[in-house]
Amino acid sequence: MHEYHIVERIVKEALADRSREEIAEILLSVNESSGLDPESIKLYFEDIRQAYPQLKEAKLSINLTRVKLHCPKCNSDFERKEKSFACPHCRAEAQRSPLNKDIFIEKIKY
Ligand SMILES: [Zn+2]
Repeated sequence: MHEYHIVERIVKEALADRSREEIAEILLSVNESSGLDPESIKLYFEDIRQAYPQLKEAKLSINLTRVKLHCPKCNSDFERKEKSFACPHCRAEAQRSPLNKDIFIEKIKY
């Protein structure tokens, strides 16, 4: 049920902006390291959107993104390759980027 609450939060966030307009599509960005299952997210969305007239025709698209790492030595952000944490620029050991977000709304189409 973890995803259910996340989708509920996303839906409320999507409706908060312009609550009277019908939404055509919500584009979500989901980090593949988050452990969140895109199929579950879609199923819960189908369930939750029934309660909101603005979401009657709404589609949910999910854009899976890769883990972003941050190198403290040369201050660069890059995508994680394989299992390596080494920075591609200076080979120093990188950390998870603070910019990483597990899930967020990339775009809403009306
Ligand atoms: Zn580096």
